[in-house]
Amino acid sequence: MTSILHTATSKVDDSHVCVLQQELRGSLIQPGDPAYDEARRVWNGMIDRYPALIVRCADVADVMTSVRFARAHQLPLAVRGGGHNVAGFGTCDAGMVIDMGPMKGVHVDPVGRTARAQAGLTWGELDHETQAFGLATTGGLVTTTGIAGFTLGGGIGWLMRKHGLASDNLLAADVVTASGDFLRASSSENPDLLWALRGGGGNFGIVTSFEYRMHQVGPTVLGGAVFHTADRAAELLRFYRDWTRTLPDELTTLFAFLIAPPEPFIPATLVGVPMVAIALCYAGSLEEGQRVVQPLVDFAPPAVNLVGPHPYTMLQGMFDASAPRGIRSYWKTAYLDDLTEPVIATLVNHAGQMSSLSPFTAVHIHHAEGAVARASASDSAFGRRDARFILNLPAAWPDPCQDEVHVRWVRDGFDAVHPLSGKGAYVNFLAGDDAHRLREAYGAERYVRLTALKARYDPDNVFRLNQNIRPDSL
Ligand SMILES: Cc1cc2nc3c(=O)[nH]c(=O)nc-3n(C[C@H](O)[C@H](O)[C@H](O)COP(=O)(O)OP(=O)(O)OC[C@H]3O[C@@H](n4cnc5c(N)ncnc54)[C@H](O)[C@@H]3O)c2cc1C
Repeated sequence: MTSILHTATSKVDDSHVCVLQQELRGSLIQPGDPAYDEARRVWNGMIDRYPALIVRCADVADVMTSVRFARAHQLPLAVRGGGHNVAGFGTCDAGMVIDMGPMKGVHVDPVGRTARAQAGLTWGELDHETQAFGLATTGGLVTTTGIAGFTLGGGIGWLMRKHGLASDNLLAADVVTASGDFLRASSSENPDLLWALRGGGGNFGIVTSFEYRMHQVGPTVLGGAVFHTADRAAELLRFYRDWTRTLPDELTTLFAFLIAPPEPFIPATLVGVPMVAIALCYAGSLEEGQRVVQPLVDFAPPAVNLVGPHPYTMLQGMFDASAPRGIRSYWKTAYLDDLTEPVIATLVNHAGQMSSLSPFTAVHIHHAEGAVARASASDSAFGRRDARFILNLPAAWPDPCQDEVHVRWVRDGFDAVHPLSGKGAYVNFLAGDDAHRLREAYGAERYVRLTALKARYDPDNVFRLNQNIRPDSL
């Protein structure tokens, strides 16, 4: 431990750190501080890194000061929003972490239907405020995910088929650049930067504040999930393939293979049993939602049916218990152009091995299309809009002794399905060992434009601890 801390701190002179401390309104955490061990960690318990300095920024000035300090001392720089990135980009070894966590200001304009949100907010926190005005924008399926990394990578969620990706709703952003200066990105100021921020990740600067378009949602919506035992998996997937062709934009759904969790809503006899579920949210009238969802209820008598009117904020938290902070995790992702018979057979076969894995492990198939597909491809850096489904293989487990078996299960599943999948990849679901998929994720033309913008806004690749787009000059 001592030697790691020594390595972590060796680059920075104590007197310089003292000056930095005095210049900050937020707090500076260093190795040896009581708060250090908690502050260096992110959501994924597999990530075990030792930064030299962690700045918990109170304001934009802190962010500017920190960027300049990290550059002056040639410290690797990690930027953290909610810390949910599965590859652990929100922390680093022997560098500086700029933690936006304390910056949680939010201002809703109920008349103009916009919200300005600081970069330390999570989706649960932002929804809490905007729902007081009956408003929401597309957010994550787990309330503790940060708005920042989520939006910058694209952002898929319950409202996406009606209102587009989170990044499609990004109207403007305040940005601290690689030189520690301040820029605003909007349709009239630095529009090319706004384009890059809509899907290009944390490559172009540190966003301190996001301005979103908001929509009237809820506060009560029809949502929940219908569960069947896994012996119906293939049959339900075929139904899902056909049913999703008929759905209005108001309905966003997710197909999941899972192990029934020990939750009060699962009958005791089903806990631990392999199951399949279709979870959903209808962003429209409750009556119309009931009518649209009825074919799913009629498919076959469900083992559990949780579909009903729920507060939107409660629906947003539906999966929270399945994703506790500190769990170990590894993912792989692919787009599926359709649920063909070979894809169905492969997924059913692979998910069939889940009963020997941790109950936090799942297979997720997100239905896209709708507003995601209709948004103009030229308005954002987001890679691919025309795939019908986004597949994610998220393994999660608490015990380090189970690392190998879970990582292998994800890799084997990905290897089996990848030849059957569509081109591209969703960057927010890429793992740490997926850097070679980045060009494919954006497509060649968009990737070239991104590397040129990177050369303009971050020519020295200061912001490189991310799914990194290298400047075309490097
Ligand atoms: C439990 C769980 C549920 C999820 N659910 C969904 C979902 O429903 N839909 C979906 O699309 N994705 C989902 N994701 C994936 C999620 O979008 C990404 O993990 C995203 O990176 C999380 O953002 P964050 O701010 O929490 O992450 P962080 O780890 O803090 O940051 C992620 C990346 O963004 C950069 N970054 C963070 N803040 C800033 C900033 N202010 N300025 C510039 N760059 C910044 C970081 O440097 C890093 O590269 C989920 C992830 C988890 C772990």
